[in-house]
Amino acid sequence: MSSAVALLRPAIRGLQAYRPADYVPGFVRLNANEAPWRPPGDESREGLNRYPDPRPAELTRRMATHYGVAPEALVVTRGSSEAIDLLIRGFCEAGRDEIIICPPTFGMYEVYARIQGAAVRTVPLLRDQGYALDVDGILASWSTTTRLVFVCSPNNPTGNAFPEAEIRRLCTSLAGRGVVALDAAYADFCAEDRMHALLGLGENLVVLRTLSKALGLAGVRCGALIGPPDLVELLGRILPPYCFPTTSQDAVLRCLQSDSGTELESRRQTLLAERRRLLAALPGIAGIRQVWPSETNFLLVEAEPGSGLAERARQGGVLVRDFSWDPLLPNCVRITVGSPTENDQLLQALAN
Ligand code: PMP
Repeated sequence: MSSAVALLRPAIRGLQAYRPADYVPGFVRLNANEAPWRPPGDESREGLNRYPDPRPAELTRRMATHYGVAPEALVVTRGSSEAIDLLIRGFCEAGRDEIIICPPTFGMYEVYARIQGAAVRTVPLLRDQGYALDVDGILASWSTTTRLVFVCSPNNPTGNAFPEAEIRRLCTSLAGRGVVALDAAYADFCAEDRMHALLGLGENLVVLRTLSKALGLAGVRCGALIGPPDLVELLGRILPPYCFPTTSQDAVLRCLQSDSGTELESRRQTLLAERRRLLAALPGIAGIRQVWPSETNFLLVEAEPGSGLAERARQGGVLVRDFSWDPLLPNCVRITVGSPTENDQLLQALAN
């Protein structure tokens, strides 16, 4: 048993998985109360009248290959959002256990924790050190009821990635006491994807990936939780059977075909070039105080107070994310890197 499994809620460790209907290729299926005919307009491979695989086996294999891990180490989730929820439901006993988050960061860690009745302890990033991770602060805050720390690297919305050595130190220091959930939603935009090196790290690291960003599949809702196989298997039991829709499976498998790699890589390169272009152009625009460095597909931009940056963009028909309500992100807006024409429109709008 991995040390992470020992930290799971006992109810999850002992959970009996639901037994779905058998599926035997070539056999007539009268065991799942399905309709015998395809619905009008159905162009799916297996038929939308049929339940999908209880666990999407082919997709799991394909995604495992894509991320360079064994299929047993990966569970497919509906977006990485669902992976966050699985972790919190798996590890946190309502009313007792807690998670640590490092704001400013992705808001859903806290939301899912509140839904589960888990407490949330915050160890803010160190703004005066470029939003650095406060590893000592996390370790000092750890209590006997802390189960998980969410580390988002590269971080949303600050855009910076944390050094590998810090993730290593967290994992080593928390061995047997807690789990490090590394949200790597934006790792595809780093100069080099370092997640592989980290994956060998140990039993208390799980990595979350998503197809919503660099692969352009946000509408499909597909992500993955990668970790020790025994943990992955138990967390997978929390998911309902048949939960990953046939249409989404088909879409992901088409996108991950071996011949799509070149096109995806060339789009990624275009996006990185556009990020460099915006990084160079934005500081010259009136009202912009600072553009933070980014290893993601967005830029955190700090405006002069009262410059109305988000409003200027809106008047030019462009939506950006205003974070000025957050005291940890004073006068900040987050701007996603778009296509070259979209970015032209943004620059034009802000210049007006
Ligand atoms: N993690 C981070 C850091 C994110 O920014 C997002 C989406 N904005 C997600 C997870 C969830 O993405 P999805 O559910 O589409 O995979």
